[in-house]
Amino acid sequence: MKYHWIDGKWHKPKRERIPVIDPATEEILDYVLRGTAEDADAAVQAARKAFRHWRWEPAIEKAQRLHRIAAELRARQKALATLMTREGGKPWCENRDEVEWVAACFQYYAEVGRNSRGNSIPPVFRHQINFTIKEPYGVVVGILPWNYPLLLMVWKVAPALIAGNTVILKPSEETPLSLLSLADIFARHLPPGVLNIVTGYGEEIGEALVTHPGTDLIALTGSVETGKRVGQLCAAQIKKFHAELGGNDPFIVCEDADLDIAVRGCAWAAYLNTGQVCTGAKRIYVFDSIADEFTRRIVKFTRSLRLGNGLAPRTDLGPMINLRQLEDVHARVEEAVRDGARVLCGGRRSPKFKKGFFYEPTVMVNVHHGMRLVDTETFGPILPIMRVRDIDHAIELANDSRYGLGANLYTNNLEWAMKAAEQITAGTFWINDPLTDNDAGPFGGMRQTGHCRELGEEGLDEFRETKHVHLDYRQEIKPYWYPYRRYNRLSAG
Ligand code: NAD
Repeated sequence: MKYHWIDGKWHKPKRERIPVIDPATEEILDYVLRGTAEDADAAVQAARKAFRHWRWEPAIEKAQRLHRIAAELRARQKALATLMTREGGKPWCENRDEVEWVAACFQYYAEVGRNSRGNSIPPVFRHQINFTIKEPYGVVVGILPWNYPLLLMVWKVAPALIAGNTVILKPSEETPLSLLSLADIFARHLPPGVLNIVTGYGEEIGEALVTHPGTDLIALTGSVETGKRVGQLCAAQIKKFHAELGGNDPFIVCEDADLDIAVRGCAWAAYLNTGQVCTGAKRIYVFDSIADEFTRRIVKFTRSLRLGNGLAPRTDLGPMINLRQLEDVHARVEEAVRDGARVLCGGRRSPKFKKGFFYEPTVMVNVHHGMRLVDTETFGPILPIMRVRDIDHAIELANDSRYGLGANLYTNNLEWAMKAAEQITAGTFWINDPLTDNDAGPFGGMRQTGHCRELGEEGLDEFRETKHVHLDYRQEIKPYWYPYRRYNRLSAG
């Protein structure tokens, strides 16, 4: 049984328990608390108290703490990856990489965060000095999804902490264990209350944190539907809302693409984490002239991929996170088939496994806009191929979406690449290298994906508020003060 981590210790109120299930075996791994509003309040009190001191600790000292956390994460990389695979299902090597990215992100913000605290601005008169100070908001609430439970934690925690905020994290009820397992590392390197972890359901403890008057910024990574609900609650309080929501990314393959590479790149972008990636390739647009060959090759390649427990070294795709998610994806596939789509491989829960939520990687054709499978985010290993006449047609279809997270393109044609990069509405545009993140490059989405950014300097500014300071180093009576008769006389000459 695991408890809340509040004020640097385990907080053990009597509450109902939520089981955490291994999606590959359906075994119960452990239980966490079903947190309540009272637990939210305890975390807020601790975070508010810690904020009084934490905000003033020099950034250089905070940076050293983040570096030490990064080193401990690396030392624990293998064990953590195993726990992440057991609770989330991703293949072990994907989780091992995730732990490395988490450590690297702590280090990135340790460095960036001690470099700047605002700007100097040219004054409008002599003997005046104008500058900005970037200040922390106060208590930041991080509400996390299950697909990258630690990566999407650090994209919030590292910039929020280095900026001087204190943090309360609410992991997904599906994957709380890996985050809770870091409590001892946080305890060694952060003062009590600076980082707190509470568990439970979004509608319960999640909303209690969002609506608590003692929280100042809500940073959510989740679905568009959750974003709308949390956004409304924040708007009612004029509370800062940082939203990183769903995606439905296009992936364009032009006729000059090297198909050996584009097929592998596309399969990886669509099936990574069993298709449960916000920036996964979810709509594949292939130039007419190469569509048949591309389809033939990607079906062959898809059939060669190995589905299995993420802990097995030869597994390419693990299970889906839960039965509800698997059934949702399958219902979309069936609906599309009823509307004329064809499944070329996959399209079903794998019959090879007695336990676990395994869905076969699936290539589909005869799909089109207007199908739920294509128009909304289908969070599973589905690769729907649509034919396009040329780059303009591909851009038009790519933009026919309410999401705007990422977009991918394979070509060496500079004009097509730049046209698509400029005209497609997306927060990240990848040319010939799908889904690669860079800690220094901003990540986030346009349209209903949320208009916010994580990573890069932009990702630090999301957790800092700007104060403008105006200083006159000479005390003097200004000519435009009362009484106005004097001012009017001056201007009348
Ligand atoms: P989800 O929206 O169901 O849940 C996300 C988190 O929000 C969970 O911790 C959940 O408990 C909490 N939550 C739910 N309702 C809430 C409420 N009313 N108040 C407060 N908290 C609430 O999403 P998920 O299924 O965990 O994750 C998958 C989704 O996340 C997909 O849509 C995916 O695209 C998106 N995602 C986006 C990004 C990005 O960076 N844009 C990254 C990863 C995942």
